[in-house]
Amino acid sequence: MIIDQYNRNHDYLRISLTDKCNLRCEYCTAEYLPIGKSTNSKYMSAAEIDSIAAVFIKNGVNKIRLTGGEPLVRKDAKEIIEKLSKYPIKLTITTNGVFVNDFIETFKNAGINSVNVSLDTLVKEQYLSITKRDEFDKVMQNIDLLLANNFHVKINVVAIKNFNDNEILNFIEWTKDKPLHIRFIEFMPFSGNEWSKDKVFTHEQILDVISSKHNFIKLINEKNDTAKKYFIPNYKGTFAVISTMSEPFCSGCNRMRLTAEGKMYNCLFGKQETDILGAFRAGNDIEPLIYQSVKSKKEMLGGNNENINWGKENTETREISMIGLGG
Ligand code: SAM
Repeated sequence: MIIDQYNRNHDYLRISLTDKCNLRCEYCTAEYLPIGKSTNSKYMSAAEIDSIAAVFIKNGVNKIRLTGGEPLVRKDAKEIIEKLSKYPIKLTITTNGVFVNDFIETFKNAGINSVNVSLDTLVKEQYLSITKRDEFDKVMQNIDLLLANNFHVKINVVAIKNFNDNEILNFIEWTKDKPLHIRFIEFMPFSGNEWSKDKVFTHEQILDVISSKHNFIKLINEKNDTAKKYFIPNYKGTFAVISTMSEPFCSGCNRMRLTAEGKMYNCLFGKQETDILGAFRAGNDIEPLIYQSVKSKKEMLGGNNENINWGKENTETREISMIGLGG
């Protein structure tokens, strides 16, 4: 078991397959990154991802999420999913949904039964404006395709003030007849994404908007849950808020992250980077490096709780962007 100095057991690994993305979301930092359907020698290969994941799994990891960038732009994404499917873990993925139709059978064969799809608006024109790509219809069709194939579908919505906060009730209405699980994510600061505290639409504000129209009931959280979950009686879906900024939930953190280049981060906000792929390629044992990284994990927000406070405007906590680290 990979336990840190605050007695948190780390059994969840998020692997970024690429920092490339086919969308250009305004608040993410993909604008200057290449569009991909390529692999690159600085990236972990499919075989390296498999071997490195095996070491984490041997040490207690029981859940792996593939993310990015957009994980499904990697041309060997299917091979990677197939390789990881042989392990006795919960395998999941976060995607913008554009290529899901090409992967339905791969997901099923790999035993993936829960997929997170990111979608910040239910208005086609607004989607084009946010992502700079005309893929709204395809994403909506793919969400329906996932539901038709009995996947548990979570929709990630980054809630930003004066950007999409006027759509919160529309997202809720969407869950009336469809078993979708909407997760409103508080806007987080990353290098180059022009964050300011004024743009954060908080957990409390989100609940205020929803309570103007609905009575809802809080669901019980599990130990490592990042989302505070709620349901509206007689609605098929649920909603949740990921309150990273207003109410961080670090005490139950069980997460470790690997970038596409095989660098390990012990926290989304942490600055400390461990070169797992470099060590692996040099033929060194990576197990001690994993333990060292987790042992040095800070109690909260990667030790950045001084910076990520409500008094500072335009805080940039780190050099690596969300897309580099994998959201
Ligand atoms: N391409 C995939 C996708 O769209 O889901 C996976 C990577 S994306 C970076 C993962 C998630 O991070 C998305 O839901 C995205 O909206 C979210 N995200 C990106 N930047 C964010 C920010 N500054 N604050 C909060 N969430 C953010």
